[in-house]
Amino acid sequence: MTPPAGSSPGESPTAIEIADAVRHKRRPAVEFTQDALDHIREIAPLNAFLDDFGERALDQAHAIDTRIASGEADRLPLAGVPIAVKDNICLEWGRTTAGSRFLEDYESPFTATCVRRLLDAGAVVVGKTNLDEFGMGSSGENSAFGATTSPHGSERVPGGSSSGSAVAVASGAVPIALGTDTGGSIRQPAAFCGCVGLKPSYGRVSRYGLIAFGSSLDQAGPITRDVADATIALRLMAGEDPRDMTSSARAVPEAVPVESCRGVRVGIPRSARSAHNHPSVNDALSRAADALENDGAEIVEIDLPHQEHAIAAYYVVAPAEASSNLSRYDGVRYGRRAEGATLEAMYVRSRTEGFGPEVRRRIMLGTQVLSGGYERAMYMKALKARRLIKRDFDRAMAEDGSGCSLVLTPTTPGPAFRIGEKAGDAMAMYLQDIYTVSVNLAGLPAVSIPAGSAEDGGDELPVGVQLVGPTFGEERLLGHAQRMETLLAPD
Ligand code: GLN
Repeated sequence: MTPPAGSSPGESPTAIEIADAVRHKRRPAVEFTQDALDHIREIAPLNAFLDDFGERALDQAHAIDTRIASGEADRLPLAGVPIAVKDNICLEWGRTTAGSRFLEDYESPFTATCVRRLLDAGAVVVGKTNLDEFGMGSSGENSAFGATTSPHGSERVPGGSSSGSAVAVASGAVPIALGTDTGGSIRQPAAFCGCVGLKPSYGRVSRYGLIAFGSSLDQAGPITRDVADATIALRLMAGEDPRDMTSSARAVPEAVPVESCRGVRVGIPRSARSAHNHPSVNDALSRAADALENDGAEIVEIDLPHQEHAIAAYYVVAPAEASSNLSRYDGVRYGRRAEGATLEAMYVRSRTEGFGPEVRRRIMLGTQVLSGGYERAMYMKALKARRLIKRDFDRAMAEDGSGCSLVLTPTTPGPAFRIGEKAGDAMAMYLQDIYTVSVNLAGLPAVSIPAGSAEDGGDELPVGVQLVGPTFGEERLLGHAQRMETLLAPD
């Protein structure tokens, strides 16, 4: 029998390795699930998990082992793979809190399509992970249930908002954890924690069962240790869903790693190498560009002239949509209800007690930009900027031979910052998203890949780079990402 999975990520098996072992009966799903549950307990001080499913997960794993024994291996590509799910994604068991007091006791009557599809493929959900409330944040500090901390230094943030999912993978508890990404919440924590984080094209993965933040921006995707696991997770999660009319019927990619980058043109935006970046970020970008060039790629500088408006446009559009989506939390239909002498007083008290400060800030911002007089000046203007940002990317990656195949940028302007360092400065926090939000505004697929590390204040911290593809270009994106990962792997 194979030895049990170790406790550091380097020793933990990937999803592909686990499924292979379970499907060929080298090790049962129950043992992999038990390892994951033990691991979740060991990392309890990091506050990455809000719930673990213990007996339920073991029962699920046992059912997988029974199906394998009866010859169903071919139908279970993720047989026995323990996965963790961000707690703004609904499961029909346990609670789905979105990291908010408001939904502290909310039990969903259904399971999100993206999780359902992984369950159908044989995955075992071992727990729900912590997040910035309703997905609003870049540090993991905005959860009503306490901050998540990084496995790379107890003073450091793990990134956000899919903080717990990134920590779950980085610490080796699970090989796949689901996150959601509205403006960077899969890619940024993946970069801070040294993982791979994939945000699919808008419409690639059904949003049915996601607790909505910004409906025109939200996508669910995997955080994994390598690109191969992200690729298989995406292929299984993706596809049309009658319950989400924005989900696409386009064929789901079967990405295969390319053998070399010969003939591929990779664009680096002029704005990507910035004096504001931590030096390690500019180094990581150069390292990635050199590796691609040595492998035959042509590296070109590109202009994304409207990129400078991305943060402003995002922090108008996302709060506007959030203020509308969160209006359903009124103390009547869902979640928390406070007492009040009148209906109005009950609404106000329920919402004041239920939402944390960042969520209240976003609701106020969103309500303001949508209100009469401001709508034209702010919301409509942000939509125009959004269209121009998308057009810049479309031109940069034009399919007529003049464009590049992929775009390379840093994922974040620096490595993980310290807990509390930006908590009092909303603008500094929002600027963390400078390289990620434009991708959501344009609806493109992008993946963050580890690209070395930075020495910062005595901590050795991971740094990531982001590869962006054209709309529904996941096949090309992931094929090259896998090659780039090999080129950047430490010897
Ligand atoms: N950090 C960004 C925000 O706070 C992105 C969040 C996300 O992608 N969910 O809005």
